[in-house]
Order: sequence, then structure tokens, then C-alpha cells
Amino acid sequence: MYVSFGFRFRAEVEALNMAEAVGNYTRHRTAPVMVIERDQDGRVIAYKVTMAPAVSGQSIAFGFMSALVKLANQRNLPVCDECQNYSKLGGFFKRADRPEIGRDERIRTCVVEDVTGFMATKERGGGEKGGMIRRTSPVMFSYMVPDSYSARGVVMPQLHVRYNLQNPQQQVPYQVEAGTAIYIHGVAIDVERIGRFEDSDGYVGDRKARIEAVFDALKALYGGLLFGAKKARYTPIFEALGGIAAISHPIPFTVSPPRMRDYVEENAKRAAAYIGEVSLFCFDKEGITSCGKTGDKVKAVSNLEELINSVKDLVLNKIK
Ligand SMILES: [Zn+2]
Repeated sequence: MYVSFGFRFRAEVEALNMAEAVGNYTRHRTAPVMVIERDQDGRVIAYKVTMAPAVSGQSIAFGFMSALVKLANQRNLPVCDECQNYSKLGGFFKRADRPEIGRDERIRTCVVEDVTGFMATKERGGGEKGGMIRRTSPVMFSYMVPDSYSARGVVMPQLHVRYNLQNPQQQVPYQVEAGTAIYIHGVAIDVERIGRFEDSDGYVGDRKARIEAVFDALKALYGGLLFGAKKARYTPIFEALGGIAAISHPIPFTVSPPRMRDYVEENAKRAAAYIGEVSLFCFDKEGITSCGKTGDKVKAVSNLEELINSVKDLVLNKIK
């Protein structure tokens, strides 16, 4: 079973993902996005690439992993010491310098490493690789990038002043770039691989609880805005506008991105012509799609939390 989500978020004045600081100027991360120009009949006449504010998948994955640690602790799911102490250590290193800990042992002893993957290597003398083990992450995050169909998204520097205690005449101005955009963002979950061993057959005993924790951590991630930085003064005005979700089996189905068009109808058509079984869910607060008007082709719910809950329930029902 494979789950694919596409979300639309409205974020105003966010500094969720800052890149380097140059002198007194802190830049927002930007990424190239495609802007499409059409003529009156809707024919594409040009593609242009422009730089726009973005939030990296790594930044979002970090928020997801921290939510997962909290939930795992509440629910007595295993988390290794390194992942448990991520905030003291400054990140999730996932025992990266200990390749002697085998893959199945890691999956058994750490839900973070199970659902978000790991890589461990040890350099021997002369640079020769002393063995490497890895697991590809069953949970995958895209970048958050502006939907160029809606608006391009802008970054604007905001002026700030640092007060100079010694000499109030010489206050230090500095600037922080803030982004505003309608963002689109995708998440994929390879449910089959959660709790499944790599080097032997079979699954961990608490697999169902781990799958449940993955969906609940996603809810906490977006509902509690657990990703991104600079929240003390740049907590963004943030709203989930719409989304589409697909649960597919046995062949993975990835949703078409929820751009400003009828993405519900588009995904329903694709799913109907697809191989295997695809179930779809949607919510749409903008009223730009046929969400709620497709009969039982796409089940409509009213917000992001309900969307994730519906997917979670369906997935858990299908798992023995
Ligand atoms: Zn760990």
C-alpha cells in the first residue's frame, strides 16, 4: 500500500527556511520554479524559470521527526538514544558513525530510523570505506514551492534594528527576507516498508502502532507548524487551503500536484484509468475544484486533519 498527499498552503510573511546570512542580511532559501504563460485559448506559449521562496524537504522532515519522537515517547514506541537527544546533539544523526549496528536492529530499536531511513559509514585509514549500510526513507517529503498558477510568491527584505547598549546613536540595522506565497507540497508514504525488516523476512511487532504514529506526526507537523525556524518573530500566517490524497495498491499512484485548477477532477480521471486499486480523498476551502461533487469517486472532507484521519483509518483497516 502506498499513500500520496498533495497540499496547498497559504503562508504570509514566513521565514521558515533561511539560507546564508551575508553581513547584516539574512536570505530566505529560494528555488527555481516554472512559470507558464498561456494565450487566450489556454495554449502554452512560454515556460519561464524564476527563483521563488521555498522550504526544503529536509527542513520539513526535521519537523516530522521531532513530532515522531514526541508521539513515540507517549506511545511507548522505541526511539534510540541519539534520536531521543536530537535537540541536544543538534540534529538527527541516526547513529551515522556506527555501521556495526545492523539494519534490522536499527529498525527494531528506533521508529525514527525505521520510517525516515538512515545511512551509516565508517572511514578506515587511507579513506577506504569500512562498510556502509543504508535504508531509503519510507516517508518522503517534497520541497514546499509556490504554486506559480496562483501567484509567483515573493521574498521581501524586512528592516530590523539591533539596539546598541553602549551607543544608542549607533543602532545596527539588519534585514531578514520574508516569503509570502501559495505553496504546494507533496508527501509520499510507502506503507509496505514501515516496520519491515531489510535483511530478514517479516515485520516489527508494533508495526500498526508505528503506521498510526506516522499519520499522527504528519497532522502535528502541519497543524502545529513544527517545521521551520525564526518562529519568535516570524511565526507565519499559515493556512491549509486544500489537498488531495490517494491510497493505492499494489502499484504506487502519485497525485498530480494541487495547482490552481480542478486538481480533484484531474486526479479522479487519472485514478479511474490507472492500474490497480486507488482510493481518493480531498478537501478544498477555495472552491476551485469539484471536491464534494464527484459522487463517490473522491471522498470529500472539510480540512487537513480530517483528510489525514480518513487516509489513516483506511490504511489501518487494510492492515492485518
Ligand atoms: Zn535512532
